[in-house]
Amino acid sequence: MVESFEYVPTVCPYCGCGCGMYLVVKDGRIVGTEPWKDHPVNEGKNCPKGRNAYAFLYNEGRLKTPLIKKNGDFKEASWEKALELVAERLKAADGDSAGFINSGKIFNEDLYVFQKFVRVVMKTNMMDNCSRFCHSTTVPALVSTVGSGVMPTSLLSIERADCIMAAGSNTQETHPLIFHKFIRAKQRGAKVIVIDPRRTVTARNIADIFLQINPGSDVALINGMMKTIIEEGLEDKEFIEKRTRGFRELKNYLSSLQMSEVERITGIPADMIREAARTYANAETSFICFNAGITQHSTGVENIKALADLALLTGNYGKPGAGVSPFRGHGNGEGFGDMGPLPVFYPGFKPVNEETAKLFEELWGVKGLPSKPGMPYMDILEKCSVLYIVGGNPMVSAPDTNRVRKILESKEFLVVQDIFLTETAELADVILPAATWVEKGGTMTGIDRKVQRINKAVEPPGEAKPDWQILCDLAKVMGYGEYFNFNSTEEIFEEIRKCVPQYHGITYERLKKAGGIQWPCPSEDHPGTETMFVEKFATEDGFGHFQVVEYKPPLEVPDEDYPYVFMNGRTLFHFHTGTMTRRTSRLHNEQPDGFVEINAEDAEKLGIRSGDRVVLRSRRGEVKAFAKVTKNIQQGVVFMPFHFSECAANFLTGPTAGPPSRMPEFKYTAIKVEKVV
Ligand code: SF4
Repeated sequence: MVESFEYVPTVCPYCGCGCGMYLVVKDGRIVGTEPWKDHPVNEGKNCPKGRNAYAFLYNEGRLKTPLIKKNGDFKEASWEKALELVAERLKAADGDSAGFINSGKIFNEDLYVFQKFVRVVMKTNMMDNCSRFCHSTTVPALVSTVGSGVMPTSLLSIERADCIMAAGSNTQETHPLIFHKFIRAKQRGAKVIVIDPRRTVTARNIADIFLQINPGSDVALINGMMKTIIEEGLEDKEFIEKRTRGFRELKNYLSSLQMSEVERITGIPADMIREAARTYANAETSFICFNAGITQHSTGVENIKALADLALLTGNYGKPGAGVSPFRGHGNGEGFGDMGPLPVFYPGFKPVNEETAKLFEELWGVKGLPSKPGMPYMDILEKCSVLYIVGGNPMVSAPDTNRVRKILESKEFLVVQDIFLTETAELADVILPAATWVEKGGTMTGIDRKVQRINKAVEPPGEAKPDWQILCDLAKVMGYGEYFNFNSTEEIFEEIRKCVPQYHGITYERLKKAGGIQWPCPSEDHPGTETMFVEKFATEDGFGHFQVVEYKPPLEVPDEDYPYVFMNGRTLFHFHTGTMTRRTSRLHNEQPDGFVEINAEDAEKLGIRSGDRVVLRSRRGEVKAFAKVTKNIQQGVVFMPFHFSECAANFLTGPTAGPPSRMPEFKYTAIKVEKVV
């Protein structure tokens, strides 16, 4: 008998590359993946995470029924009972005392229903998501310079760049299939500049110029590059004249800057900074990407403003392969802003105010929508007595883990909706089991504004349900069912199209084609928009606005007691808090444990060898892990991946920037290091 397999086209759930793949389904179970050769991003290749992206579905730890905690133990419960309990506690929470956290792991349809639930049923904007910890610095920085915080070109057009500058982005590990575009560009003759405190695989494998920068000194470096460009007359005078404002102020400020001071702050020889500046400015088309190495600083907003200044100065906006692009970590990294599950934006990035609340009252046919902004992530955790967390795991992802545990343990009522019993779910009063990825279907919007469709391939385990379905059911129990009469993700998407102008022309039918559609897409015959800001920027007056940004030191600098700088980041084999990848045996086998990278000379001083167990201590906590002694990291700097809860990097982190970003200082913490004896 011939075995029959079904090949379901879909998109990888992990990083922002948005690679296509076929899932091989036999008898209702996924048994493998096959390359999707026609998919324009990955052309038939997937990284190890993508190739194994189905395995965690079958991990025995999947949540299959609602759970209610009684006397410290979870007991299985019916959906009816669990939702009644949640509804009762939410109804009792008055004003803004209930807070809601969502995640970039869930789809546009889930996120849209999430924010609608919070606004229509709870009448509050007290909601935020994990982008607070990744790219909350991106939006205010790019809105003030070019009017919008999105990638202005396409992933495909990166191949057309003549110079690529990767700032704080270890692209080969965090976005492996975008890294292939870098390789293609380099094969065409493009020059690659990598800025990072670590000599990462990206720096080692592709950089023509590697700027090994002192952590937290990015603003000084970019200012030094811009000073060189202006002094050598390499700026794009016509572009500056026709399309920008504020050049004179920037020029005046940079003229007072001393390159010797830039060299001292950054640790990079001035000649090397000048060489990088010439390489970037002389290329016909230059592309800048940045990631958490730039964003996750108390000065993240300033870092990104400086990068946007550099692109404006050299006319690198409004053409394919140019601009300044946030490389977001989650597959739905752009969508979870677009859908508005945020304290300050309704869907379509409409600012929270009375006018917007009225607009959505008309669109949704409801009264009393909230017009007062909510609070950012950490403030919600602290101030709300009732918390509802969908897909988030702050026990690993939020700064200062010891404090987060105390905060969560002090809540009157905590609901967690997830696919596994995460470190956060363990602290919950009620756990609601969710369907994942190809058990529900929907759409994701990746780094380059590309909306792609994820097809449902298999049924969820046990009684698990799609996130949107759980929220609709809860809304019905709470008496708001008429606003949540959705029977499919397509019905939700049809409402999204009405509320988010950028999505007007995108339909499920159109998304059947490989590669998706880039918004803005105003009508059904519009092909989508590959390049933004071609004639004008998204600012109110249409001009790009230079920002003068001065170097500011990090919030907590090393001293005698805590003499090392601690940074954390990602690796190729794991994703975010490891909830899915650490339950995937092939990925777990590749990298089962956390580790600490320490400079060879520092290690010698401390008597540490590779494989020794070391303890890292900050003012907030400590972690132990195995040492990896390397010359690829600077003296005085220590690195650790953040995926491993048993040695969670966030036991050490803590200080957080003020408004507008409220970004924790993830990439710069003063610590001490000792060998465990
Ligand atoms: Fe998935 Fe990213 Fe790997 Fe592509 S590069 S297969 S999207 S994890």
